[in-house]
Amino acid sequence: MDPRMQQLLAARLQYYRDLGIHDFYRRDVASNVSTQESVFQPADVAVSTPVAAAEELFAAPKPETGVSDHHKALRLIQEDLGECTRCVLSRLGRKTIVFGEGDPNAELMFVGEGPGADEDEQGRPFVGRAGQLLNKMIEAMGLKREQVYIANVVKCRPPGNRTPESGEIETCSPFLLRQIAVIQPKAIVALGAVAARCLLGLNEPMAKLRGRWFDFRGTRLAVTYHPAFLLRDPRQKKETWKDLQMVMEYLGLKPRRSPE
Ligand code: URA
Repeated sequence: MDPRMQQLLAARLQYYRDLGIHDFYRRDVASNVSTQESVFQPADVAVSTPVAAAEELFAAPKPETGVSDHHKALRLIQEDLGECTRCVLSRLGRKTIVFGEGDPNAELMFVGEGPGADEDEQGRPFVGRAGQLLNKMIEAMGLKREQVYIANVVKCRPPGNRTPESGEIETCSPFLLRQIAVIQPKAIVALGAVAARCLLGLNEPMAKLRGRWFDFRGTRLAVTYHPAFLLRDPRQKKETWKDLQMVMEYLGLKPRRSPE
């Protein structure tokens, strides 16, 4: 077990002991948490542990549990999120919570970092300049934006577009994990290091993360450059296209054209 997970578990067990609860029953978590023994283990897929996994082991049932209609299940998550004030981002100028959008049954899901000014204004993910580039990337893969699902690690705009802080990510990412669990995409593309770190618990540079597959709870996950980074350094578009082609091959997609 990874040391962070161990720490979280130890802290949670101590908390229960302090409450006078000493007996614990282990529930089967194989379907929830990636382990080295995971059945889905092609040789080229690395395994890691997502941030909120330990907390989830002890979590109460979620409103969407057992709801098979993905659209309805996502609505229940959104209702649970409500007019969220769980972290400081709700008090730092947020106008709109950007829940995520797209096909609730999508085979492909993109995960970004957090809303920017345009997204905060419109309540939709990736609608600014970075979003326009993401749209081109999706179309180049032979898909329409409505066919994929797009969400972010945090659902509220960090002030000045700063990187979300770890407490904000820990508070918000369980909602993203629940969205992923409902949608059950065949593949996830983490856009940038923040999304990769959140979902994989890895603090590696992008060069080490991209160009390969990871296992995220039994789902293939690829990491590539964030479109906002590509706007600043268009030379990396070529590498991004390679990452997307890896995803396309796995999903059996034929390219329309390579993105500009
Ligand atoms: N950048 C992100 O990471 N997400 C968005 O929704 C927009 C820009």
